[in-house]
Amino acid sequence: MEEDRIDTKLVHSGEKPCPLTRALRVPVYMTSTFVYENFDELMKGRYFYTRIQNPTLEVLEEKLAEIEGGERALVTASGMAAITIAVMSCLEKDGRVVTSDIIYGGTHDLFTKILPRLGFEVSYVDFGDISRLEEELKRGASVVYFESPANPTMKVIDIEEVSKVAHEAGVTVLFDNTFATPYCQQPLRLGVDVNIESLTKYLSGHGDALGGAVIGRRDYILNLRGTWSTIFGATMSPLNAWLVLRGVKTLHVRMERHCRNAMVLAEFLEDHPKVKRVLYPGLPSHPQHEIAKKQMRCFGGMLSFEVENTTIAMNVMNNLRMSYIGVSLGDVETLVEWPAYMTHMTMPRKERRKLGITDTLIRVSVGLEDPDDIIEDFDQALSQA
Ligand SMILES: *Cc1c(COP(=O)(O)O)cnc(C)c1O
Repeated sequence: MEEDRIDTKLVHSGEKPCPLTRALRVPVYMTSTFVYENFDELMKGRYFYTRIQNPTLEVLEEKLAEIEGGERALVTASGMAAITIAVMSCLEKDGRVVTSDIIYGGTHDLFTKILPRLGFEVSYVDFGDISRLEEELKRGASVVYFESPANPTMKVIDIEEVSKVAHEAGVTVLFDNTFATPYCQQPLRLGVDVNIESLTKYLSGHGDALGGAVIGRRDYILNLRGTWSTIFGATMSPLNAWLVLRGVKTLHVRMERHCRNAMVLAEFLEDHPKVKRVLYPGLPSHPQHEIAKKQMRCFGGMLSFEVENTTIAMNVMNNLRMSYIGVSLGDVETLVEWPAYMTHMTMPRKERRKLGITDTLIRVSVGLEDPDDIIEDFDQALSQA
């Protein structure tokens, strides 16, 4: 498989030394405008204004397109900017989004607070039930949207099957690959039309820059850049692109350890008497473990677990000494968060319950510390909870 050489692509794709100075790294072109001596030069010019295009962003875009197996990529100021323009560019009057019922909190807000106001219909479906999805698509749709593993229940959805059903109905498929990253899973090769990444998370990997990316076919991305990103001003800062470039180069090395540490922690938690349930796609007990094995190279650094009651949940988080409480993920440090009271707070409790986002669910972004230290931290936190 082509993606097996992803390690080399992560290091080399899109980048070459500057022919003029022989600098190995692309500079941060921290400029808003590009100027010319005369109109002839201007007509031949490649860059005009950073909101439209900038050489540092372009290097990152070439790299991401090659890594993901897409024709073109567009980078944006954040993952939410990427999701917003990627979805909206597919909608025309009376457009309709059919989305998986379990999605990132910010995307859920876009789908509940903004799209309906503009006259677009959004329908939520359990994508684990393919016949239900087929039924829903008979009513017509502009976009099918989903994530896998999904935040925060780690539900895994069959990407090939959903893409096939959507394409039979003539609908464009958009996917958010932030949890898995292109190292663990390559959605464009599994049939989705448009893949989205929050670069803020694993791809930058060091918790120091916001960014997003949309990867897909040439015409789609050219329109997204020329119209949507340019008009909305969704452009990424060149400095952030440079930071993400520095992070992306080691994605394979970091993901291997994230995956290994997450597996070790998942197994430890599964055996712990105070833990009710562990949700990690790499565990044979995960309800969609077989689908995960089919479409993922490895199972990522995210897991969730449930404890008996909310008092224990709060105590566990308060007791942690090394791991921090925080909403982001994919950083080098282990971060925990409480979806019902943090990332998914705006979702009505009844809806949360239906999706399995219980009040006792804790999400962990397993970091790159020594696995023994991570386990010791959770062990002491649980034993005093
Ligand atoms: C963080 C995240 C986003 C949004 O990315 P930002 O860069 O914070 O805007 C979207 N989807 C998922 C799954 C995320 O974890």
